[in-house]
Amino acid sequence: MPDTTHPNSWDARAKSSSFFGFTDLPSIEARGTVVLTHGEGPYVFDTEGRRYLDANSGLWNMIAGFDHPGLIRAAQEQYARFPGYHAFFGRMSDQTVMLSEKLAQVSPFESAKTFYTNSGSEANDTMVKMLWFLAGAEGQPERRKILTRGNAYHGVTAVTASMTGKPYNSLFGLPLPGFIHLTCPHYWREGRDGESEAEFTARLAEELEEVIAREGVDTIAGFFAEPVQGAGGVIPPSAGYFDAILPILRRHKIPVIADEVITGLGRTGEMWGCESYDFVPDAIISSKALTAGYFPMGAVILGPELADRLQRATREVEEFPHGFTASGHPVGCAIALAAIDLVETELLDRVRALTPSFEAGLARLAEHPHIGEARSRGLMGALEAVRDKETKAPWDGDLSVSERIANTCTDHGLICRPLGQAVVLCPAFIMTEAQMAEMFEKLGAALEEVF
Ligand code: PLP
Repeated sequence: MPDTTHPNSWDARAKSSSFFGFTDLPSIEARGTVVLTHGEGPYVFDTEGRRYLDANSGLWNMIAGFDHPGLIRAAQEQYARFPGYHAFFGRMSDQTVMLSEKLAQVSPFESAKTFYTNSGSEANDTMVKMLWFLAGAEGQPERRKILTRGNAYHGVTAVTASMTGKPYNSLFGLPLPGFIHLTCPHYWREGRDGESEAEFTARLAEELEEVIAREGVDTIAGFFAEPVQGAGGVIPPSAGYFDAILPILRRHKIPVIADEVITGLGRTGEMWGCESYDFVPDAIISSKALTAGYFPMGAVILGPELADRLQRATREVEEFPHGFTASGHPVGCAIALAAIDLVETELLDRVRALTPSFEAGLARLAEHPHIGEARSRGLMGALEAVRDKETKAPWDGDLSVSERIANTCTDHGLICRPLGQAVVLCPAFIMTEAQMAEMFEKLGAALEEVF
């Protein structure tokens, strides 16, 4: 644990200078903050010189580790060439153009147009504004409702927190009206007694039909889904889920947006999560791995139909009055070009090669009497802790059991993330088999210590 005693310690300085988001203050008051200084491959180091294997790739984003020479070089060269510019008023950098062309090429779309933001939240927020802009421009101003799912995570702005299906957003008085959450497609937790997985999936499809009928199809602007829910605790959808719901959305002409902030750029073993589930959405939201975490950047990648409609609306009605100072930042774009190249030439193969040992490690730990479910897709996975495997009854107490497991891991030099009752793993694609083994060994030891 870090030194929390000295008034000039990094811990004390961090606490007295910084306001923490997504952080349990009693927990860091008891345990101290971890202040990091640098990284090597998938390891990070703190101010006390301790080394941690980061099983979460930062926050799902550092897919190439913390010191990748190619990404650092791409940033340095672009900083030296042209350190920043916007992408408005008919001007943008050459890097921005090249990245948009590259994204069109690697996207599942026949053609694509991309709009840039600084984060995943802003990209989802932008997509909602695009749908609302279209509704107004196409003479259907009442077409504003947004469909998402329980347990979804789409961001932290007022709109994207409203899309997010997490109870904590009620602390802000959210969701805003018009954001409708369908059932989370997690069979293990949401399936009813005696209900088969196929019946569960069919029930969710029926629910979607009912919601569309109840709300009125003319009031619905779009449907957003993470191909695999990430911050909800890594929830791959129930078998056949997208095959069941997509025809309904298509029949009602409701745009389908794949929020690929975590799943995009290789995480699920395909370039895009939607490809792992065999569907082509109308737009893709990307961030995180887009720059391998080396630059804050998000992207709305519009498939041909939405791109055409938006183009028409901006030509015939008015310009799209939206954007950020750093939209299409040339350094971010140069890094993204290098990151996508890395994914294409090396990292996608690494994800595929590592997936069997990742799945085997999860399956081994799932034999523990207090692990109720192991779930994963590609290199994103979770172990859900339960008090009782049969009843799936969760643990209760002041500190969730997943937090106790994650804290114990931190003490042993492994960073993993507690999410609800689950411990989540999202390793960097550059991990070696030996580092993967170290990750599971430390997590296994933490499970033994906690239970
Ligand atoms: N969408 C998904 C699926 C995410 O996982 C996240 C962040 O974890 C976001 C959107 C928000 O991205 P950001 O934190 O960059 O705003």
